[in-house]
Amino acid sequence: MSSPLASSDVPALASRRRTFAVISHPDAGKSTLTEALALHAQAIAQAGAVHGKGARRGTVSDWLEMEQARGISITSAVLQLTVDDVVLNLLDTPGHADFSEDTYRVLSAVDCAVMLLDAAKGLEPQTLKLFEACRVRRTPVITVINKWDRPGQEPLALLDEIQQRLGVTPTPLNWPVGIAGDFRGVVDAATGGMTQFTRTPGGATVAGREELDAGEAARRHGQDWHAATEELELLTASGQVHDQEEFLAARTTPVLFTAAVINFGVAELLEAVTRLAPPPGPWSDVQGVAQPVDGPLSGFVFKVQTGMDRSHRDRIAFMRVCSGRFERGMVLTHAGTGRPFQTKYAQSVFGRERETIDEAYPGDVVGLVNAHALHVGDTLHEGRAVHYPPLPRFAPEHFAVVRARETGRSKQFRRGIDMLDQEGVVQVLVSDRRGAQAPVLAAVGPMQFEVATHRLEHEFGAQAVLEPLGYGIARRTTPSAMPVVDGKHGAEVLRRTDGTLVALFTDRWRMGTVESELPRGSLLPMFGADGMDAS
Ligand code: GDP
Repeated sequence: MSSPLASSDVPALASRRRTFAVISHPDAGKSTLTEALALHAQAIAQAGAVHGKGARRGTVSDWLEMEQARGISITSAVLQLTVDDVVLNLLDTPGHADFSEDTYRVLSAVDCAVMLLDAAKGLEPQTLKLFEACRVRRTPVITVINKWDRPGQEPLALLDEIQQRLGVTPTPLNWPVGIAGDFRGVVDAATGGMTQFTRTPGGATVAGREELDAGEAARRHGQDWHAATEELELLTASGQVHDQEEFLAARTTPVLFTAAVINFGVAELLEAVTRLAPPPGPWSDVQGVAQPVDGPLSGFVFKVQTGMDRSHRDRIAFMRVCSGRFERGMVLTHAGTGRPFQTKYAQSVFGRERETIDEAYPGDVVGLVNAHALHVGDTLHEGRAVHYPPLPRFAPEHFAVVRARETGRSKQFRRGIDMLDQEGVVQVLVSDRRGAQAPVLAAVGPMQFEVATHRLEHEFGAQAVLEPLGYGIARRTTPSAMPVVDGKHGAEVLRRTDGTLVALFTDRWRMGTVESELPRGSLLPMFGADGMDAS
């Protein structure tokens, strides 16, 4: 990196990183926005304002193509953009059918999230779930209201919904001029001026932007301008004004308006992420001790992906760097086993494109190739031992019994199931009643089952048969509740490998009737006291 800073100046380099993810419901425009962000960062790079990696033309569309293929080898990795002096690491959160625990785990490796809403739909189920995962970690969230070029809801109503349903105060950074469907530009809440947008043919390039002062904006946009400024004033008067401390404490969420498909408002978002998202700070270890960014190298694996490259049976572990400077070739210690770990094959991975990575800093993600010894949640470190907390496990909503198709393959089957459980590909639940040959797989999203059966067959040589179970809700439970729950229709208790007892129910109604027969506190959310269910 052609940085004027010495590469040994870790705190300064860390302070220039922004590591974030976009959370949204399918179809809100995440892929479109990602591509638009890349386009803008590239445009800045092409204007010569950036030192750093060259433009990564083509990578975004490759990635989209892969997403559309929706194969099991979907890549989810990191798009690294450089804006002025700041390196943005945009971690992909898989969406759609491949919604899974991986989606949540990515959020444990970011410092900020961008919550993307469709202006016509507001908060949708998947957005709410992902927001909840952010709330648990008190991750600051920037809200983007997208598709403003289409008819949608009133902006004040959308903000009200955020306040009511999420309990965070939305603070507009800008406000749309023109109703949804007639997007003229935005009022900048800080300056009171307007940025007027103009379309470029096909929306393929960065949109035209013109800065207008209030007088000129009023002259050109008349009623639309007055309506926008009045609404913004209303919010200002009620104290809905950006305050960096409140945002970092996740009590407020700055709001911006975009039409990603025509690149309106995207430059403003890029600027907001660069300016407001927090840089990587000290990361808490398992004892709660904050590890300073300038300590020896340490990081944790938040995702393991196998079979990304069909020609090799490879396995990439993605490590978020928490402290220190990573240099390819350094030998780290695997905190769990105390064994050395070679980092000769470190890569940055984005879609099909891989580049050898030579150095990385806090906030960056390193893809460690052929990392057969690494599992999700593992810590790697240099020097004295550090352990980062295990990654949380999330409440599954899909359940299926899995069996080996051929009994002669039961050994391979068991080995595969144990490995998938350890890696967190799926959660594995067992009970005496069902026996070890017929464990229950539990997943956040059904895609996890596909990945599990694919890997059982291709990696472990055991074809598997799945039999979906009609359960939809899981709760942690107690040994004393077990006999009561187990005797009921539409309910069952199983055990996770970490010993946690998990009660499954077909639906809330069934759970309610069973719960009424149990002592208080017998059924606990899978999301534990701190909102997470740390395994
Ligand atoms: P994802 O599922 O969240 O990744 O959503 P996509 O980026 O695939 O977008 C879903 C659909 O919405 C596509 O047809 C996009 O072209 C469209 N879309 C995305 N952003 C906008 C926008 O700002 N305005 C309009 N009109 N359509 C959009």
